Amino acid sequence: EEDLEESSNVEDIKVCLRMRPLTSRENDPRVYRHTGQFAWKPLKEMNSVMQVTRGASADKYRKAKTSFTFDKVYDEDDETHDIYAFCGRHLIESAIAGRNGSIFTYGQTGSGKTHTMQGHGSIRDGLLRDSPGILHLAGKDLFQLAKDSPDREFVFSISVIEVYNEDVRDLLSKRIDHRLHIREDQNAGIFVKATKIEVENMKQFISILSTGEKNRVVARTTLNKRSSRSHIIYSVHIESFPTDQSSGSKRSRVSCLNLIDLAGSESVRHKSSHSTEERRKEGGSINKSLLTLSRVIQALGSNHRQFSRAQSHINYRDSKLTRVLQPSLSGNARLAFICCATSSGLYTEETKSTLQFASRIK
Ligand code: ADP
Ligand code: MG
Repeated sequence: EEDLEESSNVEDIKVCLRMRPLTSRENDPRVYRHTGQFAWKPLKEMNSVMQVTRGASADKYRKAKTSFTFDKVYDEDDETHDIYAFCGRHLIESAIAGRNGSIFTYGQTGSGKTHTMQGHGSIRDGLLRDSPGILHLAGKDLFQLAKDSPDREFVFSISVIEVYNEDVRDLLSKRIDHRLHIREDQNAGIFVKATKIEVENMKQFISILSTGEKNRVVARTTLNKRSSRSHIIYSVHIESFPTDQSSGSKRSRVSCLNLIDLAGSESVRHKSSHSTEERRKEGGSINKSLLTLSRVIQALGSNHRQFSRAQSHINYRDSKLTRVLQPSLSGNARLAFICCATSSGLYTEETKSTLQFASRIK
């Protein structure tokens, strides 16, 4: 089997860094006394982050040479809303206009991916009151933008799928076997036949998304009691038709918006000695899919820059994650990565690995 030759260009990709506040553990001098409280210093005005090392005198830090630059750097003073305004909203707008888009949260377990994606707080009237996540902000804009376009009628439907240990599962399926097979069709291209549920308002939207989330596979690790060892992909399938059909044209427009909460990236560099066989297998497949994802995005980026006939081959097939996302990563898709991290000295290497991932895809 050969991949179809297609000119895959990612028209634009935004990569930003979000550093969450330190946890009480990360702020405990007894815990960080060997590592220092901070390992990284965000420099927001320069959109970069710099490694710091502890000097000889107690808590004096000095600058290390290592630094990484992003499209935008956010720290604990910033809300998900600020991040969404910069790297989310334009994807929602173009998805409504018919272009595919994907927003990813990347980072080690406990770095704030789910906080960013799902938000935090209580749900009232289908809306998150406290700190809304990307899901809520995107959903709100989708319905608003549809309402603001009286010349078209929109249909939104949701699917929620999970990639766990190189298995793809349908989190909205009512069947006992939730496994999905990746199919390929001359006309439809690559697709998985996941359950799609139509939603008409924000309340239904959030309710369907949380149904999917509840079916997610979770396992215990030493880093976080309820850690995510799987990738979860919330997809909004957008179809629209011209309201005025007297013109003869009934052409519908179809696009897909993916909101992806990736599995914890800590396994990319760290092979912990105390992990079980099962955890090692999970780690291996997370590792593979995240590395493949970065390679695919690098290849898309270089193809876009070159405009040459010698386009690099894009190995979507190397992981299930990239395979499932292939339709949304090809063509003139728009992408955004929110890389989540902590400035704590306790996770210097994990954070460095996240920063390196970010600079590889930029
Ligand atoms: P992940 O999904 O990457 O494993 P979580 O989103 O679950 O991490 O975050 C871990 C903890 O840190 C949670 O208790 C979450 O509420 C908190 N947290 C994460 N990011 C922030 C933030 N920007 N502001 C406040 N609390 C945060
Ligand atoms: Mg999570």
